[in-house]
Amino acid sequence: MGIKAALDAHGLRPQKKWGQNFLTDARILESIADTAEVTRDDNILEIGPGLGHLTRVLARRAGRVTAVEIDRDLATRLSAEFAETPSVKIIHGDILAFDPSELIGAGHDPALAAIPYKIVANLPYYITSAILRHILQAAHKPRLVVVMVQREVAQRMTAQPPAMSRLAVSVQFFARARIARTISAGAFYPRPQVDSAVVRLDVFDPPPLAADDTERFFEIVRAGFGERRKQLRNSLARGLSLDPDAAAAALARARIQPTRRAETLTLEEWRALYHELARPSVRGTPA
Ligand code: SAM
Repeated sequence: MGIKAALDAHGLRPQKKWGQNFLTDARILESIADTAEVTRDDNILEIGPGLGHLTRVLARRAGRVTAVEIDRDLATRLSAEFAETPSVKIIHGDILAFDPSELIGAGHDPALAAIPYKIVANLPYYITSAILRHILQAAHKPRLVVVMVQREVAQRMTAQPPAMSRLAVSVQFFARARIARTISAGAFYPRPQVDSAVVRLDVFDPPPLAADDTERFFEIVRAGFGERRKQLRNSLARGLSLDPDAAAAALARARIQPTRRAETLTLEEWRALYHELARPSVRGTPA
């Protein structure tokens, strides 16, 4: 049955507000599972299972699947479908309201909350960045993330200097990122406005910085990108309430020309800058 017919049969309509663009092409669904290298040893968290097309592929291959769906009607329908499948748990709720690692244990053995897991999803596009931040900044991070996102977002996530963005730094700080394949808009129902891409993130373990330091690192990145196309000396001074000379001095110590723009910095340069700006003598100096 096609997606439209399946939806009609259950009196359901795709909810635009929740980014419901369903995917049924079996080859694409299998290729997403291939990209995630899903095996029986895997504990998978799926975000937004929708009508369950990807969930079924994952359930066939993985040891365990936990899927979180915000749409009560769809979650109820899927829960009934998988009621007799103990390896699959459907949870109704907003992914942003849960700690991903707790979900992995939910309904299964709580000890699972500590074991490695993968996230595989055809993401709702209206909250892609928030979901990426949420899962990459979780205390217990997934070791692999394979997600469908808008193609343009995939390009921004995997961008390199001199075309970095805050999103590129936020993702590449935590993971090695690559585009596995692009998918045309016609593969979805309803058809979205834009093409999509499958992105694979191999998450660094251990994470590059401890949690407190990560917060400061992103304060600096936010400040750097705060004023588009401005020289870093100025955007850092303004964003971090620093004297411009102190910002320029920190940049010089990190061996970064103060006149460069945030888009041109490598991850190594951001880290070097963080180490200079995290010093107690530099933090919080009034402008
Ligand atoms: N996995 C299905 C597929 O590939 O056909 C559906 C993908 S659709 C692009 C995104 C799904 O995420 C929808 O089912 C939507 O209801 C769900 N969703 C949207 N926002 C969510 C949230 N905050 N938490 C959990 N699920 C969400």
